[in-house]
Amino acid sequence: MIFSVLTIFPDLFDSPLRDGIVGKAIGERKISVDLVNIRQFATDRHATTDDRPYGGGEGMVMKPEPLVRALQQVRTTARPSARVVLLSPQGRLLRQDIAEELVDPSGQLILICGRYEGVDERFRRHVDDEISIGDYVLTGGELAALVIIDAVTRLIPGVLGCRASAENDSFCGNLLKHPQYTRPRVFEGQNVPDVLLSGDHHKIGEHRFLAAVRQTLQRRPQLLAGRQFSAPETALLQR
Ligand code: SAM
Repeated sequence: MIFSVLTIFPDLFDSPLRDGIVGKAIGERKISVDLVNIRQFATDRHATTDDRPYGGGEGMVMKPEPLVRALQQVRTTARPSARVVLLSPQGRLLRQDIAEELVDPSGQLILICGRYEGVDERFRRHVDDEISIGDYVLTGGELAALVIIDAVTRLIPGVLGCRASAENDSFCGNLLKHPQYTRPRVFEGQNVPDVLLSGDHHKIGEHRFLAAVRQTLQRRPQLLAGRQFSAPETALLQR
């Protein structure tokens, strides 16, 4: 999958894309991230990408022309199914199901990072979608783009070592993941639940399912409204 990122700060992407699962996915050519510097599409000698808002007021607004030119340049070599997403606090809230919707292993996601007070309203007609990573305001779209690249990349088949890792994560099936433990067996006086040491995989499965439901009820009960419990799960819950 190709991620093309339009930004005025391409250097912000250096380190986050080098390490971990995303860095490995790039190394293994499962994804590529092309950084496009919007400043290179400004035409004046100061490479201006922002200007004062019409009507007055604080801050600067990103000019539409460099953005459109940068996007046109990317589109000349883009894959046919390429999707253009503007990062915006006013967009659809990113959730796991939206990350899943964005996965397209042979496709391309073009991410546009705003800065200042945001982009000129007239640029919006050039985008397919607007996504927010949460109800708070960042100084720019770069961190939001990195969040999307990370959340989408780990869902691309073959990126995570174990396919089941993504399938058993929080939000899959509208449940949070069950609590997890590793060595030591006793830590600060707290024991690992006995059943996890039993070797009985059926019992461990039941324990983890019930623990996941409990965790979800306590922390994110609203998720359960979208959960379809199977007949064996319902029987287990009623036991
Ligand atoms: N003035 C805008 C408003 O009140 O809606 C906020 C602009 S923000 C300071 C600058 C840029 O950061 C935005 O254009 C967007 O690209 C990015 N940004 C800020 N918060 C974001 C969020 N929660 N999710 C995604 N992008 C965000």
